[in-house]
Amino acid sequence: MSKFLNQKISSLTPYEPGEQPKQREYIKLNTNESPYPPSKKGLELASEQAEICHLYPDPNCTELTKLLASELGVKENQVILTNGSDEILNFAFMAYCDQDTPAVYNDITYGFYKVYAKLHGVESKVLPLKEDFSIDIDAFIKEKGTIIIANPNAPTGLLLSLEQIEKIVKSNPDRVVVVDEAYIDFGGESAVKLIDKYDNLLVTQTFSKSRSLAGARLGFGVANEKIISDLMRIKYSTNPYNVNRLTSAMGMGAILDKDYFEKNCNHIINNRQQTKVELEKLGFYVTDSKANFLFAKSNKIDGKNLYLKLKEKGILVRHFDTDRIREYIRITIGNSTQMQAFISAIKEILEEL
Ligand code: PMP
Repeated sequence: MSKFLNQKISSLTPYEPGEQPKQREYIKLNTNESPYPPSKKGLELASEQAEICHLYPDPNCTELTKLLASELGVKENQVILTNGSDEILNFAFMAYCDQDTPAVYNDITYGFYKVYAKLHGVESKVLPLKEDFSIDIDAFIKEKGTIIIANPNAPTGLLLSLEQIEKIVKSNPDRVVVVDEAYIDFGGESAVKLIDKYDNLLVTQTFSKSRSLAGARLGFGVANEKIISDLMRIKYSTNPYNVNRLTSAMGMGAILDKDYFEKNCNHIINNRQQTKVELEKLGFYVTDSKANFLFAKSNKIDGKNLYLKLKEKGILVRHFDTDRIREYIRITIGNSTQMQAFISAIKEILEEL
């Protein structure tokens, strides 16, 4: 840190992304990426765009916005595209939290929320999940700040129904509710269908997981047109070219190649179910995840040791060394071969104990 850094930034604890080691080939089940490559259609469109990369991209993402809006069944002015969904979440904190409006979120949830709150100097009201990691809906209803809920939640994978989300959104029309649907395509019902009914709802989604584009960085927000115009003000005050030509093209391909998207989601859902059953046979407790990962704890070995032993065997999973979830590991769902290798490694580790 240099001596010039201001107090606000020097006091931050930045978000810690999952490790991306280069020393050896790992089976990577630690950052919730898709095991399947991006759609070929996207590659074709991106190679056309690569040839004109001397020109800035369209800041309005006109074509992609049109296509995405029609896919979602909303109007074009109800969508904003961003550099990953991390960016739209950042915009939401900038737009809807301040000294008088804290950010309200759960104790066990996506780790970036607390970083954004700190970055923007706003208070966090942290609501504990219940003992079984389910979300206490009534606790959210009582709070006055801007609510941020990951649905399905991460790293637990637990899903709220659309009715439960609606109850929270409806309970206080004077505050914004952000529903972070990064993992919604793996078994949840999106709140996008509520945006015309509630002007305080912002739904965020990503192309990083179900559409195999984590490396391209593409996310979006869907909301009432006034919310979108607020967020556009931020986009045009920070980086109007936040979505580059290649990414836009890859995103178009991912939407157009609907069969590929649906097939991949189904593979993940099936692999998730099979892996859950295998883990349960081996004495694990596994939450009822509706995301592209499982959250599991063994009755024989603690989370940290299991993470380390898997790493020795060339398999990376995520372990969070924080209260309430230390016993658990989070396993991204990969392809069938990767999941078989994971289960074999777990069996070996348990036998070696
Ligand atoms: N929300 C949640 C709950 C996540 O787990 C992630 C992935 N780390 C994101 C948002 C951000 O994903 P991206 O920026 O790749 O869209």
